[in-house]
Amino acid sequence: MVTTSWDDGHPKDLRIAEELQDRALSGSFFVPLRGPGGKPTLTPGDLRCLRHQGFEIGAHTVSHRSLAGLKGKLLRFEVSYCRQRLEQILGADVAMFCYPNGRYDRNVVRHVREAGFRGARTTRMLSLEHKFSPFEMPTSLQAFPHPLINYLKNLGKNGDTPGLFRYLLEYRGCRSWVHLGKRLFDQVLQRGGIWHLYGHSWEIDELGLWSDLREMLDYVSRREGVTYASNGEVLGMLRADRQLHASPDPV
Ligand SMILES: [Zn+2]
Repeated sequence: MVTTSWDDGHPKDLRIAEELQDRALSGSFFVPLRGPGGKPTLTPGDLRCLRHQGFEIGAHTVSHRSLAGLKGKLLRFEVSYCRQRLEQILGADVAMFCYPNGRYDRNVVRHVREAGFRGARTTRMLSLEHKFSPFEMPTSLQAFPHPLINYLKNLGKNGDTPGLFRYLLEYRGCRSWVHLGKRLFDQVLQRGGIWHLYGHSWEIDELGLWSDLREMLDYVSRREGVTYASNGEVLGMLRADRQLHASPDPV
């Protein structure tokens, strides 16, 4: 399966949507009500338009603050109010959530579940797995030129020792994030699993990564035997296959 997700609801997401649509790729846009660092956000009309084009809109809190350690009313406001407001705008269910800055704890996961979401995406990278908690959906890579140390830190932070060894053995020679993305995709083609690209349109724009992104998307699109789906659709298919862990709370 191939899925993509795009965080922060920046107006440049509309350009991402065009690139995805041109290649019949699916995606989820995680939108906070206020952009991080005062960045602009998509208008309600933009959000309805994206949904109309077949993309998923997910919640990314009210103010894009990190949720780990937050409690009570403030946490409920960040998680639940964002969902309510997006549902008002879209006139439709908002099923997916994404933790700002990838920061969360057990209490945050509980709140996200209780708010009615059916899954949540993290910023864990280098995963091709199809077995994970729906509230800790991992990714394969970010559309960003991370240095080697960032991948090691990311794997270390998540206690992923097998992932660390696999990365050092198989991927450390990759010249760029696009090269790494292609290698990861080749693995999914051979062995199955989920290839999940995430990113920020504002960052892609600031760093001039549009041609890299096009190369990456060209490589994974229109492949035989590959299912293209939004984050929520991926979870739905895994649930139908009973591949998701029974316990949604193993943080
Ligand atoms: Zn974000």
